[in-house]
Amino acid sequence: MKTHEVAVREYKQLINGEWTASSSGETIERRSPATGEVVAKFFLGTIEDTQQAIAAARTAFGNGPWPRMSGAERGRILHRLAQLVRENLERLALIEAQEVGKPIKEARGEMEMCISLIEYAASMSQQIYGQSYSNLGAKRTAMVVKEPVGVVGIITAWNFPAVVLCQKLPFALATGCTTVVKPSEFTSGTTLEISRLAQEAGVPDGVINVVTGYGDVVGQSMIDSPEIDRISFTGSTATGKKVLARSAQYIRKVTMELGGKSAMIVFEDADLEDALDGAMLGFMLNQGEECVSNSRLLIHEKIADDFLEKLVEKVKKIKVGNPLSEDTDMGALIHEDHVNKVLAYIESAKQAGARLLTGGNRLIGGEHQNGCFVEPTIFDQVDQNMKVFQEEIFGPVLSVTRFQNLEEAISLANSVDYGLGNSVWTKDIDKAMTVSRALRSGSVWVNTLIDIVPELPAGGYKASGFGRELGTFSIDEFMEVKTINIHTGKRTPYYNV
Ligand code: NAP
Repeated sequence: MKTHEVAVREYKQLINGEWTASSSGETIERRSPATGEVVAKFFLGTIEDTQQAIAAARTAFGNGPWPRMSGAERGRILHRLAQLVRENLERLALIEAQEVGKPIKEARGEMEMCISLIEYAASMSQQIYGQSYSNLGAKRTAMVVKEPVGVVGIITAWNFPAVVLCQKLPFALATGCTTVVKPSEFTSGTTLEISRLAQEAGVPDGVINVVTGYGDVVGQSMIDSPEIDRISFTGSTATGKKVLARSAQYIRKVTMELGGKSAMIVFEDADLEDALDGAMLGFMLNQGEECVSNSRLLIHEKIADDFLEKLVEKVKKIKVGNPLSEDTDMGALIHEDHVNKVLAYIESAKQAGARLLTGGNRLIGGEHQNGCFVEPTIFDQVDQNMKVFQEEIFGPVLSVTRFQNLEEAISLANSVDYGLGNSVWTKDIDKAMTVSRALRSGSVWVNTLIDIVPELPAGGYKASGFGRELGTFSIDEFMEVKTINIHTGKRTPYYNV
C-alpha cells in the first residue's frame, strides 16, 4: 500500500516569528504508521531552542502588541485563522491522516472541529469582562478585572493533535496570552501548519512559538522555566503527574487533560439501534485512541445477548486499512510499541478469563503488511478487577460487563480511577438524570457520546485531570483575576498618632 504521492514534509521550528533549524541540527523522521514510509521530518528541539522560544513569548507578552490589542482586533485575526484553516482543510486532513494513521474522513471531521473551536474562541475574545461594585459605601468603588495570565506553555498528545491544539491555543490567544507549544514528536505536522496559518492571519511574531522534539527535553524545559506562567497539558495521567510535580517549584497554574476509561451504560429501554451505533463509535473512533473512548460497555443483562450478537455482526463489517482510502472505517495505531501494548492488554483479558467475541489479533498481509493494524476486539464477561476494565488501553478494545439494576450500573461505572466522559442510554428521563448526576466524570452524554461542541466545557474528574476546556470556562483558564479597590474622599486614619 502506498500513501499519496507527496514529498516528505520537512519542517522547521517557529521561534519569534522565524522558521528556524534546531540548534541540534538533527531531525526526527515520522513514518506513516500505515505503510512505514517516511512522511515528515521534524527538528529535534533542544533546551536552548526552548529557552529562545520562551524568551520570545515573554518579550511578546511584555512589550508586544498582542496583549494590548482590543478583544475585537484579536477576534478578527482569529476569525481569519479559522477561514485559512477552512481553505486548507483537505491538506491538513491529509497530514493528520498520514501522521496519526486515522481515516481521512475522520481527519476531515477533526479539521471541521478545529474551525468551530477557533471561531468560538474568536467570539469569546469580545466576551471578557469582570465585575464592578458600587454598593461598598459612598467612598468606595471596586472593579474586578480579568487579565491574561502571561506566557502559556502548551504540551499536547498525539491522538488528536489539531483538535487538542485548538482546544487550547485560540483560547489562550483570545485572552491576549503568548505561547510556546510542544506537540508530540509523532504528529507535529498540523500544529506547525496551523501556526503558519496563524502568522498569515496576522498573529504577531513571538505570540506563537513551536518547538518540536521530545517531552523529556523540550516539555521538561518548559516546565522547568520560571518564565512560563501557565501550563496547559494534554497527555497520559502518568506524564501528567510528573508535569504537576515539577510545576510545584513555581506554584504555577496548570490544566491537566489526562487519560480516561469511560463507560457506556445501556439500559433495557434504550433505542438499541442508536446504542449499537454508539457502541461502535465509542470504542473504534480514531482506532480507540481517544481519551473519551467509551471502552467499557455496561449493559443490562436482559438485553445483553441479543445486543452483543448484533454488535459483533456489525463490527465484523468494519473496514480496517489504508487511512487515505475513502471507505476505510478504522486506520492504523500510532506506532509499533503501542500495537504491542494493545496486544498485551488483549492477552491479559484472555488470561483473566474474559470471553473473546471478535477480533483479538494484529492484521498482517496485503495492505496491512507494513502497518500497525489491530482488529476491533470485543470481550464479554469482563470482571471489574480485570486490567481491561480498569486501565486505559487506548486501542480498539471493548470490554463488556453486564448489570442487573441501576445502582449496580452506577457503581461499576464509577469503580475506576478515571472520570472523563461516560454515556447513558435510556428513554426514561428519571433514570437518565439519576445516573447522570451520580456519575463521577467531567462529561455525561445521554443517548449520544463523544459529541463535542465548543460551547460545552470538557475536562476530567479524578485521575482524568482538572481544569476545563471549551465553553466560557476555557477563557478563565488563561486569565488572572485582579481586584481594584478604589477609595475616594478623605480616609479615616487607622492610627491615632
Ligand atoms: P504522553 O505520553 O503523556 O505525552 C503527552 C505530551 O507530553 C507529549 O507531547 C509528550 O512528548 C510530552 N511529555 C512527555 N514527557 C514529558 C515530560 N517529562 N515533561 C513534559 N512533557 C512531557 O501522552 P500521549 O501518549 O501523547 O497521549 C495519549 C494520552 O493522552 C492518553 O492517556 C489520552 O487519554 C490522553 N489524552 C487526553 C485528552 C483529554 O482531553 N483529556 C485528549 C487527548 C489525549 P513526547 O511524547 O513527544 O516525547
